[in-house]
Amino acid sequence: MNLITVGTVAFDSIETPFAKKERVIGGAATYIALAACHFTKSCGLISVVGDDFPVAVLNEMNEKGIDQQGLQIKKGEKSFFWAGKYHYDLNSRNTLVTELNVLANFNPVVPPSYSTPDFLMLGNLAPDVQMRVIDQIPARPKLVVLDTMNFWMNIAMDELLKVIAKIDVLTINDEEARQLAGEYSLVKAARKILDLGPRYVIIKKGEHGALLFDKHNIFFAPALPLEEVVDPTGAGDTFAGGFIGYLAQSQNISFENMKRAVIVGCAMASFTCEKFGPERLFEITRDEINDRIEQFVALTDFEIYVEE
Ligand code: AMP
Repeated sequence: MNLITVGTVAFDSIETPFAKKERVIGGAATYIALAACHFTKSCGLISVVGDDFPVAVLNEMNEKGIDQQGLQIKKGEKSFFWAGKYHYDLNSRNTLVTELNVLANFNPVVPPSYSTPDFLMLGNLAPDVQMRVIDQIPARPKLVVLDTMNFWMNIAMDELLKVIAKIDVLTINDEEARQLAGEYSLVKAARKILDLGPRYVIIKKGEHGALLFDKHNIFFAPALPLEEVVDPTGAGDTFAGGFIGYLAQSQNISFENMKRAVIVGCAMASFTCEKFGPERLFEITRDEINDRIEQFVALTDFEIYVEE
């Protein structure tokens, strides 16, 4: 398998200053896999849902090339549920409800066909579950990317730090990078995070784009200025899915190629914001994706002559 994604598959209730929707399809792994499958057709999913999760959605994901041998469906149990409310700037939100449900006793099992992935995406999930997946993969993948959030920092920081020590790329939003590093400056925070183990850190800044750091370099990609942001939920996960999907397709993990992958991640995230839930990720075509990547190139392309 080229890419394995671990993370939540869930229901979300979302409120923005402009609209509200109850129980739309959500979950970190849902967004990641739906973004990545546009780039690599060898995608496996490790997650858990209750029997309340619509089979039709799982079938649609399967049709997109997302293999589900690693997805457990628990009879008589409820899927993970998250509710969030966005502030007026849509860049910040409050979590209203997190119901772990099936996630509370989730024991991930890596199927034999998933045991040698080239790329491993540890999406937002309990750090001990992320670790149990790493432990079941005997040969180290080419690249391991981890995404997490404040919820896990608040309740499982020690376990999270152990996972962070084992991965190559951490993707995290600006507020969470500050919390993890105890530094306000994102440059200092990134440096401290790199000292925890990863070779790269990507700090996501919502509508202000994303920063990629390694020990020696910084790269910045803007977010596409959209006329209307309907729902930013899942944008961070979609970014991660586009990022790792592109790397998995190109099999090139140099810093130069990661810069391209960051642009692809930002382009994919812009689609997610256009409708509630992952709806756009189901419908977009390769041509639309390519057009959007071109828009990014145009957005930051300029010539300048500096007088001697
Ligand atoms: P994002 O907007 O990219 O941060 O991701 C939002 C998605 O993360 C939603 O679809 C939620 O279902 C999922 N989510 C929210 N809280 C958690 C959590 N504590 N662990 C795992 N996934 C979560």
